[in-house]
Amino acid sequence: MKIFIVFLSIVLVLGSGFSRLNSPKFKTENVIVLVIDGPRYSETWGDSLRQYIPFMSKELAPQGVFYDSFYNVGKTYTAAGHTSICTGIDQSIDNTGKEIPQYPSFFQYYLKSKNNDADKTWIITSKDKLAVLANCKDSLWQDEFMPKTDCGAGGLLTLYRDDSTTMAHVFKTLKNNHPNLLLINLREPDYSGHAANWQGYLNGIVAGDRYAYELWKYIQSDSAYANKTTLFITNDHGRHLEGVKNGFINHGDDCDGCRHISLLALGPDFKNNITVSKQRNQKDIPSTIAYLLGFEMPTSKGEVMMELFK
Ligand SMILES: [Zn+2]
Ligand SMILES: [Zn+2]
Repeated sequence: MKIFIVFLSIVLVLGSGFSRLNSPKFKTENVIVLVIDGPRYSETWGDSLRQYIPFMSKELAPQGVFYDSFYNVGKTYTAAGHTSICTGIDQSIDNTGKEIPQYPSFFQYYLKSKNNDADKTWIITSKDKLAVLANCKDSLWQDEFMPKTDCGAGGLLTLYRDDSTTMAHVFKTLKNNHPNLLLINLREPDYSGHAANWQGYLNGIVAGDRYAYELWKYIQSDSAYANKTTLFITNDHGRHLEGVKNGFINHGDDCDGCRHISLLALGPDFKNNITVSKQRNQKDIPSTIAYLLGFEMPTSKGEVMMELFK
């Protein structure tokens, strides 16, 4: 009997050792998702000169993985695109801030499985309505494990605010609270697009490009983030192609202009300076975040983007 117990103990110790070896250990401890709202691919990466995104194309892309076939395959408006990015589910959610997602987000799964300290997980957005992303309708999760929110002028159902204000809040929160998980939404270029302001729309793409670069520079300069932080830069949706309805002014249907978005992913566990042409979509972001940080996200319909990894 004694011998059997010793044998069993050895098997258990070896067994747990092997399972540890099998589960990958990554350098990433923090993940930031930057969502630039509603640029069309033709004015960003699809432009051969990439004239409106000099920082992302020349400074950031060489340090990361760029996806040229990245899509919104659900509803092509703001709340739905962000819900896919957060929950891994394409949902026809109300777009005015009056409905919360059906399923838990990567924030909720992280808080439940890792460290239930809401101050370490933030949603900071120019659009107030995106405060709905902090919660979900699933009865096992509703009002539980919620990240902190700093959305719009003063929270849900207030007004939008400028992206410059949002980014000031982002840098202050990174410095003071050191969140492990952060989702950022910039309202431009979507906001100027809806105002039929072509120059403002292009300026919004240029500004988002600069904010992405400043964010990555900040990450490398803060010892809480340098070499242990992954950044995903993506979009909630595109805009209509020329000739589809009113073109760049609006979005929301199935045209390729609305669906074709982009993803640039940078981090210590990812490859450098490559372009991936495998088709991927927004739901793959939360599944990849869960894999990187070592928690399960069983309700996500996304796939882990294994091709990202070194
Ligand atoms: Zn819009
Ligand atoms: Zn369209």
